[in-house]
Amino acid sequence: MKRYEDLSPSLRCIMTPGPVEVDPRVLRAMSFPVLGQFDPEFTQMMNETMEMLRELFATRNAWAYPIDGTSRAGIEAVMVSLILPGERVLIPIFGRFGHLLHEIAERCGAEVFVLEKPWGSVFEPEEVIAAIETFKPNVVAMVHGETSTGRVQPLAEIGRACRRMDALFIVDAVATLGGIPVETDAWMLDAVVGGTQKCLSVPSGMAPITYNDRAEAKLMSRKRVERGIRISDVQPGELSFVRSNYFDLGMLQDYWSPQRLNHHTEMTSMLYALREGLRLALEEGMDARFARHQLHEKALIAGLTAMGLELYGEPSCKLTVVTCVLIPEGLDGESVRTLLLERFGIEIASSFGPLKGKIWRIGTMGFSCRTNNVLRLLGALEAALLRHGFEVFYGLGVQAALDVYEENVR
Ligand SMILES: *Cc1c(COP(=O)(O)O)cnc(C)c1O
Repeated sequence: MKRYEDLSPSLRCIMTPGPVEVDPRVLRAMSFPVLGQFDPEFTQMMNETMEMLRELFATRNAWAYPIDGTSRAGIEAVMVSLILPGERVLIPIFGRFGHLLHEIAERCGAEVFVLEKPWGSVFEPEEVIAAIETFKPNVVAMVHGETSTGRVQPLAEIGRACRRMDALFIVDAVATLGGIPVETDAWMLDAVVGGTQKCLSVPSGMAPITYNDRAEAKLMSRKRVERGIRISDVQPGELSFVRSNYFDLGMLQDYWSPQRLNHHTEMTSMLYALREGLRLALEEGMDARFARHQLHEKALIAGLTAMGLELYGEPSCKLTVVTCVLIPEGLDGESVRTLLLERFGIEIASSFGPLKGKIWRIGTMGFSCRTNNVLRLLGALEAALLRHGFEVFYGLGVQAALDVYEENVR
């Protein structure tokens, strides 16, 4: 009989744009006993998670709860529930995840209008607003922090324009929630999707979402309850009902409401993890957390540039939590990454599509975003570059980062 070894994953220093290292407190939370899904102890945890999520999303929305599945599941749930077949949807794209929104909108049967920006930059709000005025979409869907290019899109003016033109504004804040401000109410975002394995430092497997009463009104107009659990025959949304059962927010919110109308079986251990991750974020304080992400970004950039490396992309829209580095001419980027992983236990990321082989992406997210990780990475990267025959200004990278940390002792 074949024997399988004991599970023993290596301890890694994960400096990618997700998944990132998980705080030991979250790992511990995941090992606690399972509770039944209607056990009052468990439903209390569900309610506390909703409360904490409202703070993270900076919203007074009634609805803030996780979708079970990775972040993409959250995006798909929001889009399939809020986009009716045949509706007009505008998708401004400035990287890989914008293309994902396009792809999902098509699957929802929408008439999709796409705007594209060259990778490495973002939209001027006026460009998107002009397109909203031209196409008069029912829904606008857009990425906040684009991890494929390391760029961040300002959203407030676009949010205001969507409200004025009565379009629902859906935002993918998967990479930004918990790392940089995501101001759901102030920016007038109607539905927002976050991620767990990025700046919240919880394993992947859930996608926190929030949506306001404008979004809820649309859900109610398509409401349909499963036959096996209906208590009345009234089904106002029978004609335009959501084509996915698992991702139907109208049914999911009944499960997260005091009604606790059964849907799927909530992921017990993942909810423990999310609750602990949220508790950690709120204990740190959102402003302190944002400041921490900025500090380590600053130290990382100082180190990389002192070493002689160049950053990729338009600096004015750089995303704090992802730093993209141009792979020097003639260097095999994948070979450097392999050396970092195999010899130093440090993981950084490559990129996709037009940027494949051209840049490395370094994440400074959540629990991975800390001094010793940044310094370790800089030291190891210098060694790996030297090993590949690239002329670095050796010794300078780590020193430049140490300077930043010394100037910013808190
Ligand atoms: C990571 C990421 C996703 C997809 O997340 P999964 O958890 O892999 O489904 C979507 N959007 C953005 C901006 C991301 O960074």
